[in-house]
Amino acid sequence: MKQAFDSHLTGRRGFLRSAAAGTLAAGLWADPELEGAVKNVNTNSKPSELKITDLRVATITRAPMLCPIIRIDTNQGIYGLGEVRDGASPTYALFLKSRILGENPCNVDKIFRKIKQFGYHGRQGGGVCGIEMALWDLAGKAYGVPVYQMLGGKFRDKIRCYADTTESHDPKIYGQRLKARHEQGFTWLKMDLGIDLLEGVPGTVTHPAGVSIGQGGNVQHMFTGIELTPKGIQMMADYVAQVREQVGYDVPLSADHFGHIGVNSCIRLGKALEKYNLAWLEDMVPWQYSDLLKEIADAVDIPILTGEDIYLKEGFIELARKHAVDIVHPDLATSGGIYETKKIGDACQEYGVPMAMHFAGSPVCCMANVHCAAATENFLVLENHSVDVPWWNDLVNGVEKPIVNKGFITVPEKPGLGIELNEEVVKQHLLEPGKYFLPTPEWDKERAHDRLWS
Ligand SMILES: [Mg+2]
Repeated sequence: MKQAFDSHLTGRRGFLRSAAAGTLAAGLWADPELEGAVKNVNTNSKPSELKITDLRVATITRAPMLCPIIRIDTNQGIYGLGEVRDGASPTYALFLKSRILGENPCNVDKIFRKIKQFGYHGRQGGGVCGIEMALWDLAGKAYGVPVYQMLGGKFRDKIRCYADTTESHDPKIYGQRLKARHEQGFTWLKMDLGIDLLEGVPGTVTHPAGVSIGQGGNVQHMFTGIELTPKGIQMMADYVAQVREQVGYDVPLSADHFGHIGVNSCIRLGKALEKYNLAWLEDMVPWQYSDLLKEIADAVDIPILTGEDIYLKEGFIELARKHAVDIVHPDLATSGGIYETKKIGDACQEYGVPMAMHFAGSPVCCMANVHCAAATENFLVLENHSVDVPWWNDLVNGVEKPIVNKGFITVPEKPGLGIELNEEVVKQHLLEPGKYFLPTPEWDKERAHDRLWS
């Protein structure tokens, strides 16, 4: 707590000093007793005059993903932290710098509406979302409240996390790894269950010659011509059976990364998996094809889930309204940031659809997720991809460590996101050594005629 407030106060006192220079005179500040008193008052006294002065980047690598951290600076010494979606270019945030300079960061929604036209699905949403997180961090620091409180308060004090683990084609080994996650305290597990398991096994996958059954293809699922045979489906079901043998049937076990197979194969595979009571089947076909997802959801009695690539609430609302999915799965660093993701949860709740949260970033974005999850009633579970990254916790200070403790994250009570960067550790894991929040004047004047209607 102290650390967070110290740096915060230093900056704020600097502001108070200059603001008071003309009238209060040096005498007041020279009086140690009075200065002590000033330390104890709410120094967040001028949020109405807070202005954005800078936006800078420090990109962390192998966390395990690439994580571009952004810092928004202000005229009052306080700053906000945000994170561009894992694997995205920091340029997605930097080219918005000129649009936010001079704005009051406490007007989070106003700024979001100004810049949201520059985001898109997948990683392209990352810049808008990273800035939105940093604005909430700033607003919280300025008013002295945690982000979840500004969203209407919390429904829970601890956030349930789910994790997967390193893949193995041997279901016994994979099952043991998942069991170890369970024993670490995770109360929700996820496994990869892809058609790559069938690679090289004759008679399991029908595919046109020259079409790879691997995961890498950029061809959408329905257009690959890849279909599973009964033998292939049986092998994948047997694989899940053996994993279930290891982890048991009491813990929710989700499945992802099926590969690019056609809708009929999705349905036949889904039906074969019903008896293993999976918690969800993820991203079976691209989210844009809501009618196809509905076909799968109607045919298979396992929850169907998608959403990690969807930008803004509208795509989620359509999926929930049609009941094309049983669970939505936004990635807050793509979906529109903290407030838009709460709106997604709330809107889907109206249709009886819960919200799980996809996440694969640093502790900065993690905490943005935690505040949103705390404040959204239909939240189910939050992903964590960094269980095996030993220094992941050390990237930040100010929160309980380990951040994910026995499968849960405690919701922080400090102003804003509730974290400070650990400069020393962040500097050890930069994508480009030395590039730690360097000046970005080249982005000060980026301009376009941004009007969306005439
Ligand atoms: Mg996924």
